[in-house]
Amino acid sequence: MSAARIDAVLAEAAEQLGNISDTARLDADVLLAHVLERSRTWLYTWNDRLVDSSDLAAYQALVSRRAEGEPVAYLVGEREFWGLPLYTSPATLIPRPDTECLVEQALMRMPGKTGQLLDLGTGTGAIALALKSERPGWDVTAVDLFDEAVALARRNAQRLNLDIRCRQGNWFDGLPPMHFDVIVSNPPYIADHDEHLDQGDVRFEPRSALVATGEGLDDLAHLVNEARTWLFPGGWLLLEHGHGQGEAVRCAMHQAGFGHIDTVQDIGRRDRVTLA
Ligand code: GLN
Repeated sequence: MSAARIDAVLAEAAEQLGNISDTARLDADVLLAHVLERSRTWLYTWNDRLVDSSDLAAYQALVSRRAEGEPVAYLVGEREFWGLPLYTSPATLIPRPDTECLVEQALMRMPGKTGQLLDLGTGTGAIALALKSERPGWDVTAVDLFDEAVALARRNAQRLNLDIRCRQGNWFDGLPPMHFDVIVSNPPYIADHDEHLDQGDVRFEPRSALVATGEGLDDLAHLVNEARTWLFPGGWLLLEHGHGQGEAVRCAMHQAGFGHIDTVQDIGRRDRVTLA
């Protein structure tokens, strides 16, 4: 493999990825920026520079893996969420822009300088860290069932210098007796037979973070039923869910005795977050 110009290397990779990715050119850019340890802007500024043969070999190995479907966030080991760079790993879901809707809604219910926030099923720590970055005076607890996720959330907190408490646990189990002003979660909510699971990046993500029993509703229902005893009077529960699940979640919240129940749509105008 001999050296080649940046612009030519990118054009070829984008073509190679065109069949599998809706964002082929962006993927090509992000992977080359990663190999060269430069920004995407740098690539555009210096697009007539040569990529040497060893960098080219490393790049082509990544492009081939992407062509097999592996998500860019796993290949480069990070993804931005709420403007924060977060380490990613195949042990957790990749943070998605859809989930920024949950962060926005939670922030509206965190008006004070201090308070107690709980994030259940934190994964990379994305939601907990985004909220801590906006409300530094709040006490933030982030829980995940899997040790790898807890370790990753801790690494992300350290990287961002945000002081949150990361704990291993099964939802509320094992939390010290206390109350929260706001509880948030983006739990698994996809039904195990959903064809969405056979397409694109989700194929490489952990099923444990995506799939729930009961047509995807069982974990959401569990959170609704447990949350009230953990909330201060007047506290808020906010849950992300699939676009067909708003009514079921509202109904569960109503039965559990919640009030002020509302469903909010994401930028694609689909039901995404229900709060109470
Ligand atoms: N919204 C994600 C997807 O459709 C799933 C997130 C989740 O299950 N919590 O891929």
